[in-house]
Amino acid sequence: MKAVVFHQHGGPEVLRYEDVADPKPGRGEVVIEVKATSINHIDIFLRRGMPGVKVPLPKIAGSDAAGVTREIGPDVADLAAGQRVVINPGISCGRCEFCSAGYGSQCVSYTMVGEHSDGAYAQLLKVPAHIVVPLPDSFPFEEAAAASLVFLTAWSMMISKGNIRPGEDVLILGAGAGVGTAAIQLAKMAGCRVFATASSDEKLERARQLGADVLINYKNEEFDKKIRELTNKRGVDVVVDYIGADTWVRSLRSARRGGRVLTCGATTGFAPQTDLRQIFFRQVQVIGSTMGSHREYMDVMKCVFRGQLKPVIDRVLPLAEAAKGHELIENRSVFGKIVLIP
Ligand SMILES: [Zn+2]
Repeated sequence: MKAVVFHQHGGPEVLRYEDVADPKPGRGEVVIEVKATSINHIDIFLRRGMPGVKVPLPKIAGSDAAGVTREIGPDVADLAAGQRVVINPGISCGRCEFCSAGYGSQCVSYTMVGEHSDGAYAQLLKVPAHIVVPLPDSFPFEEAAAASLVFLTAWSMMISKGNIRPGEDVLILGAGAGVGTAAIQLAKMAGCRVFATASSDEKLERARQLGADVLINYKNEEFDKKIRELTNKRGVDVVVDYIGADTWVRSLRSARRGGRVLTCGATTGFAPQTDLRQIFFRQVQVIGSTMGSHREYMDVMKCVFRGQLKPVIDRVLPLAEAAKGHELIENRSVFGKIVLIP
């Protein structure tokens, strides 16, 4: 099969489109013919290499996929070859203390598709059968592959852990990222007022079309000051921050007394300075989240399949142009997701 492989860590140029051996399904596994995959930040981190994380090379990245089942391994009960499917991009064991309690994303052996095994930047993808979910007949592969990771991330963080409620003010930082476009829609669905930040007026206009109520261009103004001004010094009920080092201090300042700051990533760096007084004196709750359980995946995808939540696709590229896609995301010149078609 054809796949996008990297043999060493580095910039987008290390991604090579080449021939590799077809995967074979083992016990409890399924091989899917990938019709669409999409780029996530984890793919970029894996490509660059992360301190303290050993990535087996050569490597095929990619966590999101939708396609058609090609080959079913032994001991898989309810799947047949030729079915339209989408995958939950997270794999949990189903047996540990945390899985047993229903918190699959806290699994002691939690891993992403494409993290320790080969991923979806390929014509064929091998995954455990328990993460494979049937895709409704008329639902486009591109949208399914663009939705899974970002909507699962936003749903678990905001609905389950962040407990956003009607009438609350929610600040979403970096509205143009995949998770940002999902977070805006979820907050609107929950009946919140949405404050969105982005680096350009063009992206803010797109955010407005998704439902954002108040727009802040963070290149022109300091967003925490703007939030205090707009809310009569009160601050917002909830801040959604996956930017990390560049925004953390201002995120804490933007939350109201007793507000919540939700974090599910740190694309600009993971060791920001924290003034602890902003947390204890103002009684702000910091809530961490990563991915979500299979229950949450089924819940959010139900809304996606019904059209209540719609993945935002910036563009669709052939898989062979994965490097270009990485470059566009690293330059922040996209709004929403980049989908790759093998
Ligand atoms: Zn587990």
